[in-house]
Amino acid sequence: MTKRGIITIAAILLIAAVAVVLVLTLRHPAPTPVEAVQTIPTYIVALDPGHGGRDPGAVSGDVLEKNLNLAIAQKTQALMATDPRLQPVMTRTADTYVALEDRIAKAEAAGAQIYVCIHVNSFDQPDAAGVETWVDNTRADDDPSWVLASMVQSALSNATAARNRGIRTQESFLQRTTMPAVSVEVGYLTNPDELTKLLDPAYQATIATGIVQGVEDFIDWMEESQSSDQETSES
Ligand SMILES: [Zn+2]
Repeated sequence: MTKRGIITIAAILLIAAVAVVLVLTLRHPAPTPVEAVQTIPTYIVALDPGHGGRDPGAVSGDVLEKNLNLAIAQKTQALMATDPRLQPVMTRTADTYVALEDRIAKAEAAGAQIYVCIHVNSFDQPDAAGVETWVDNTRADDDPSWVLASMVQSALSNATAARNRGIRTQESFLQRTTMPAVSVEVGYLTNPDELTKLLDPAYQATIATGIVQGVEDFIDWMEESQSSDQETSES
């Protein structure tokens, strides 16, 4: 074979090899990572530590309710931020006085869809203890706030093992918003045993676990009721 013949055969083989590689590559494109990414809906949750600044809330000795509320809300915020579905926003992040209407305005401006106030309770008798969740009494019977209250209350009492004082209702500033809104009273600072727990950062984190679990349960419930609404309207 001539030298020229060898070069021609080599060139043909090379072209054939390139063609085979091209065909195989085009028939089996590498999976793109974009296909694996799913969009998860996120929910903005307003966390409202009660009182602050010149308003101490309940007082027991040198313990001021406003400081406990902020510490518990900050732990709730940190835990909530680890759930990709939840995006917490705080109505105050320091010991400052924020008017009630400004708290609602701040939450609504941030696009919040769920509102949770955090308070510590007090009573003139030391034996009162436990957790309770409040809903504004102008909310209609089918307002999702009642479901939010029930889920937060049961998750909070399960997490803390504190006395379950149930869901309560009274007129409150939470009627200034239409988003599902509740106020949790996480324990009594006038009860000596409960005050010791409330001052313990580990117990504050346990309270945060309960609040976050309750909000997650509520979101599950909302998503399930939305998908069953769609099924109903499609059929
Ligand atoms: Zn309070």
